[in-house]
Order: sequence, then C-alpha cells, then structure tokens
Amino acid sequence: MPPGSYKLGANVTEWYDGGCLAMKLITVLGSTGSIGRNTLDIVRQRSTEFGVYALVAGRNVAELARQILEFRPRVAVVAEAASIAPLALLLDQAGIPSADRPELASGPEAYVAVAVAPEVDFLMSSIVGVSGMEATYEAIRARKRIGLANKETLVAAGRLIMSAVKQYGTELTPVDSEHNGAHQSLRAGRRSEAVKLILTASGGPFRKFSRQEMANVTPAQALNHPTWKMGPRITVDSATLMNKGFEVIEACWLFDFEADDVEVVVHPQSTVHAMVEYNDGSVIAQVCATDMRMPIQYAMTWPDRAPAPVARLDWKQSRQWDFEAPDFDRFPLLGLAYQAQKAGGSATCTLNAADEIAVEAFLREQIAFSAIAEVVEDTLAVMPSREAASIQEVLEIDRDSRAAAAEAVRRRAGGRTALALT
Ligand code: NDP
Repeated sequence: MPPGSYKLGANVTEWYDGGCLAMKLITVLGSTGSIGRNTLDIVRQRSTEFGVYALVAGRNVAELARQILEFRPRVAVVAEAASIAPLALLLDQAGIPSADRPELASGPEAYVAVAVAPEVDFLMSSIVGVSGMEATYEAIRARKRIGLANKETLVAAGRLIMSAVKQYGTELTPVDSEHNGAHQSLRAGRRSEAVKLILTASGGPFRKFSRQEMANVTPAQALNHPTWKMGPRITVDSATLMNKGFEVIEACWLFDFEADDVEVVVHPQSTVHAMVEYNDGSVIAQVCATDMRMPIQYAMTWPDRAPAPVARLDWKQSRQWDFEAPDFDRFPLLGLAYQAQKAGGSATCTLNAADEIAVEAFLREQIAFSAIAEVVEDTLAVMPSREAASIQEVLEIDRDSRAAAAEAVRRRAGGRTALALT
C-alpha cells in the first residue's frame, strides 16, 4: 500500500504548527508492550527533549488510554476498528478536553501514516510479529530515524530492509540489547577490522534441563525468564534459544557478517551483551545492567549519549561471569536458525512464521515444548524457498508459512481444538 493511503486530519497539522517544533517527536509502534512502555518511560524522563506524535497499540485499550492521558499524542492507532469505540469511551470518562483529543484510527494503513508523517523525527518499531513491518519499511524509505526492537522485520525481510536502509541512507539503530551492544562495540574500530561478533545468551530457564525434562515443561515455566521481563513470545523464544537464532540472523543483516562469523555463547548473568573481536585479537565487550531502557535511550539519542535511568554496576562487589558453549542438541532451534540464514531466500521468513504459530500452540497447551522445534522443522521442509521482491511478497510467504505450520500443529495436537490461522 502506498504511504499516505490513510490521511491524517487537519487538527494534527495545526497542532504541529502550533509550537511542538522544539521537541523531537516520536511514534511508538507497539506502545502498550514491554518495549513500548520502556520507550515512554524514556520520554517521561526526557520530556523537554522528546514528545509523542503517535501511539500504536494492538488491543490493550485500557493501557493505551492511560498513555494518551499522560503523553497527549496527536494520533492513537489500534489494530482493529472495533477497539476505537471502547477507547473513545475511556477518554470520555477521563474527561479529556476535546482540544487535547488525539485523532483515533485503526489498521496497518494508519500505522504507515503515523510512521512516515512529516512531523515524526524518530520511530520506535516495537510491534511484536510482522504487523509493523510495512510501516517500518516505509519509514526507512521516508528517511526517518528508527530504533528497531522488532526482530521479525530483519529475520523475515533482511535483504529488502537493509537494501532500503543503504539506498535511502536511513539511520537504523538496533534496540535489542545484543545488537545494541554490538553497535557500541563496533565503534571501537573499523568494520573491516572486525572479524567476529559474539552474542551472549542467558541460556533461559531450561539451561540445565535434560531433554526429557524439557519435554514436559509448562507455559508458566517457559514464561519465567531468569534475567529479563519481556512479552510472552520473546520469553518463550528465549527458553528455546530460537530468540538467539533470530539474533544471529539479525546481526548478519545489520552488521554484514556471515553466519559462521557470529558466535553465540551462554552467559547466565546477562551482563555482557555482545563482544566484537578485531583482527589483532582484541575483544571489545559492551557491559550494562539488564534494563532495556539503556539500549532504547541509546537509539533515541544516538550519536549522543546521555544519563540513563538504569542501575550502575558496582565494580567493588566481587562477581562471577560465566561463559559456556550452547548445546545445539537440546536447543535445536538455534541450529535451524544458522541453517536458514545460510540457505538464504525466504527460509528465515518461514522460520519466524512457523515459530510464532508453534509458540502460540504451546502457550495454548496444544503441543509440547519440545514440539515447537518439530513444527518449525516440518514447516521449513515443506515450504519452498524464494527471494521476495517486495514487502507484500514477504507477507505472502509469512501467511503461507503460518498455514503450513498450523497444519503441522494440527497433526501433533491430534485433533484437539483447531488452531485458528492467523
Ligand atoms: P509485547 O508482547 O510486550 O508487546 C507487543 C506490542 O505489540 C504491544 O503493544 C501489542 O499491543 C502490539 N501489537 C501486537 N499485535 C499488534 C497489531 N496487529 N497491531 C498493532 N500492535 C500490535 O512485546 P515486546 O515489547 O516484548 O516485544 C516487541 C518486539 O521487540 C518484538 O519483536 C520482540 O522480539 C522485540 N524485542 C523485545 C525485547 C524486550 O526486552 N521486550 C528485547 C529485544 C527485542 P497490545 O498489547 O495493545 O495488544
């Protein structure tokens, strides 16, 4: 869909002309999620520097209404039109004056409109899944500064996204803590001097579980991440190490590494986020407390640094940092991610789509934890790989892969509740 298919109303333009020029205005895709809320906390802390132009959420209208009351965006967008009336009612009940009312809109065309609007200085891309991919792509083409938290965008459409970044000279700063750490570590030398990228993994809650123990884990156990508080999908993906596999793929695209030059090490303390090895054997590590507000703020203020509201490490306290090799046998999805990246074409798009369906099925208790990898493997085996020429084509492959994965789930669920195709 061409950008601008959704037309923003006149009041939005008047508001902009009326004095918000001094601030950097941001649009947050996925404002009600874990990354979105942390992004708004940075806005809260740096309220003289940043203002909110638009908030985009899925279905959580209660949280979105609270955010509208606090941040007074000019536009608020929800996934479905049916959510607009309940949202408007909450704003009525809060007694928000009509002059401060945001324009309310819904659906992907509106996501694109608020991502590329001329008023927007910075876009935080943090909708989970592929729903925000088109808006992110159009923002790249509109040369917006972007903080990229959403990993599905690069996993599913890395080639298209990065060629647009190069073509338009867009600043795309990674927010994912490992890639943000890599971005920082790469500032210590020239890219041509960097020979290896090391991404750390906490190892998740099942680091020490046997294969047999892993077969019986429950959604509640998988959602209990030892070091990070995140949305449900990425939390389960961290438990299977699929998330680390996605990060390997993202790193290849972001920093132009071959998959074999990106190494994963398990580091249960999650304090070292990434390391870059240079050709002289020197290794530069990025170290920080486990708080996403650090990489979020880094992306928002880049290339400047500024005091961030995160805990500082106390170097006088003795501490232990462990590093160990990941177990590819117990965590087969990590190996599948390397294979998919090396295979090229649409394999990584299928990997992501199949994993999302399998994780949903696991969370609904339709399949076992260990079956997540089986569903992904089966889906990769049946889906032909092709090179997508457009974001629409990526979304088609994503849809087809989901259908194939849902079928693989059905076979395993043995006729239990039919899984809705998404
Ligand atoms: P959450 O599940 O906490 O939040 C997801 C957000 O996306 C919510 O605001 C949700 O809205 C919104 N959303 C979902 N579907 C739609 C849709 N169709 N249209 C519009 N909005 C939608 O996820 P996280 O914040 O944890 O993660 C977001 C992204 O960032 C993911 O890609 C994740 O992999 C990545 N990431 C997250 C990290 C973290 O620490 N959390 C770290 C690194 C990367 P609602 O709730 O209103 O339905």
